[in-house]
Amino acid sequence: MAKRSCEFKTEVSQLLNLMIHSLYSNRDIFLRELIANAADAIDKARFDSLTDPAQARDWKISIGIDKEAKILTITDNGIGMTEQEVIDNVGTIAKSGTRAFLKMLEEKGTSAADMPEMIGQFGVGFYSAFMVASKVELRTKRSGSDAPAVCWSSTGEGSFEIESCDRTEPGTEIKMFLKDDAEMYLESWKLTGIIHKYSDYIEYPITVPEVKVDEDKKETVTEKTVNSQKAIWLRKPSEITEDEYKSFYTHISNFAGTNYLKPIHISAEGVSEFKALLFLPKEAPFNLLMPDIQKKGLQLYVKRVFITDECKALLPDYLRFVSGVVDSGDLPLNVSREILQDNPHIAKIEKTITSKILGELKKLIENDRENYDLFFTEFGKILKEGLHTDFTNAEKLKDLVLYGSMNTPEDKKITLAEYVSAMPENQPAIYYITGDKRESVESNPGLEYFRKQGYDVLFMTDPIDEWVMQSMNQYAKKNFVSITKDGLEIDGAEETVKAAAEKYGKILEYLKKEFEGKVSEVRFSVRLTESPCCLITEGSALAPHMERLFRAMNQAVPESKRILELNPEHPLIAALNDMAGDAENPDLKKYANVLWDQALLSEGSPIKDTAAFVKNVTELMLKGIGK
Ligand code: ADP
Repeated sequence: MAKRSCEFKTEVSQLLNLMIHSLYSNRDIFLRELIANAADAIDKARFDSLTDPAQARDWKISIGIDKEAKILTITDNGIGMTEQEVIDNVGTIAKSGTRAFLKMLEEKGTSAADMPEMIGQFGVGFYSAFMVASKVELRTKRSGSDAPAVCWSSTGEGSFEIESCDRTEPGTEIKMFLKDDAEMYLESWKLTGIIHKYSDYIEYPITVPEVKVDEDKKETVTEKTVNSQKAIWLRKPSEITEDEYKSFYTHISNFAGTNYLKPIHISAEGVSEFKALLFLPKEAPFNLLMPDIQKKGLQLYVKRVFITDECKALLPDYLRFVSGVVDSGDLPLNVSREILQDNPHIAKIEKTITSKILGELKKLIENDRENYDLFFTEFGKILKEGLHTDFTNAEKLKDLVLYGSMNTPEDKKITLAEYVSAMPENQPAIYYITGDKRESVESNPGLEYFRKQGYDVLFMTDPIDEWVMQSMNQYAKKNFVSITKDGLEIDGAEETVKAAAEKYGKILEYLKKEFEGKVSEVRFSVRLTESPCCLITEGSALAPHMERLFRAMNQAVPESKRILELNPEHPLIAALNDMAGDAENPDLKKYANVLWDQALLSEGSPIKDTAAFVKNVTELMLKGIGK
């Protein structure tokens, strides 16, 4: 292949430009990133060698120093890359991570000085070499392929060059021509320090040249392995430092740019033997719900051999915010990635992991409520899915969910246990209202009766709540009852409703006729104290905010008919009743329609015809002031 020059993809160019021209607080991490890439490459080659023993070799990562030429080299004997892979991976395909990284810098206004911490987390680690080097040369040969090796080189400005080269060993070598101010990275002690700090747990030996002067003052250079290679998940928690946890989390977390809240060690023996190190996350990335950032699964090792970093079957979906590593002693080494999905060992591990995580969350909610609240704000939406999907653990999950409520200040959330313990003795059920945000449920007239009774009402304002409530029947032997749905049972209501229907029969009949086709029923109720009327939903129908949400997503949903409930105590009802009947007041239609629109507005729903509403209100106002 003749030498040719290729342009970097625009986003990559922008990123490189930042790398080259910024001043950093901590450039050391470039080494961590390149070593992590080298270790990943060896993981892949080692996996292949399980089925093709000819590919097995003494896995290692070696660092070379040329003080005179100011060149630092990192070499691995991992999987290597083909020509196309080189072009794609380091230059022309701007991965979602690159874009996300640039966007994050823009949005957060993070200064370039903080950038190094975030680089690895966005999967743009290779480019960090340009923080310390004015030119980078990469030579690589794909393991198990006859294609010639490839040399890629660039100064990071606009384009890179690519050509064949004569490297014969499989793997990748990265040569960095260090900038003048980066010469400290030519010192073995400096490199050793960085490796101890960030890459100690890497399973493969990482060697750094060590110069020894013998008695005759002759210098000999040997390669010294500087990392302990002890897999972090096999170590005693008491011996792991926070720096080690942090750097490992950065390495394995699927959530770019975040910190962890708590490491969880599991050492299972007996029926199923495995070790795991998992992390509860502290904060969600800004793009948590974007599909390509969604949880990929846990990393799976078998007897310390890396198998896959996307084992979805190890965790239920609703715990997909957990990152970590599972190392199984039971699975065969040559387990194929495909069969993991229905493997009984994996299923057992999943069960153990799930209950351990739920147990840790319970400890957190009991002992560290402040951090739990923060955690729940970020990940509660995801955790709640379990209420509907994991029936075995539903009872445990009920103790982990938090909700806002009518009697709770806006910035606080309560548990179901707290709700129940604050219930007056005569309160028959757990009441809730669903809606799209606190402000819209707060002003719903349906709350009035409950406020008067001294009952609290849970505010369920996540889109997922409506779905979850379909399977939440009871908590602490109390039924869940939606206050905006049909079927609310209130003692003594029947007589009041019957009496009102007789007393105000004229307006009831009028409204039934006027709103025919729009509502399934018009009736009196006792759930209102201040408002003249409200709309409720039939038991099985979607709440109106959900109907709107589905339509916004272009999903066809039938428009469910609502029930209009009137407040017999409200003076407006008595007045309208007087207007209805034989000598019907000509303005009654306007009044009725304003009433309807108000019912929509007060539950946070839009009104269909704003112009007609404004016209009706204006005309009635003019009449009111006698014009
Ligand atoms: P990430 O490693 O997070 O995917 P990088 O920018 O660090 O992002 O690397 C981009 C890609 O280049 C890697 O995913 C990998 O496919 C390839 N790559 C980088 N370094 C090596 C290496 N030493 N050996 C083989 N492939 C590598």
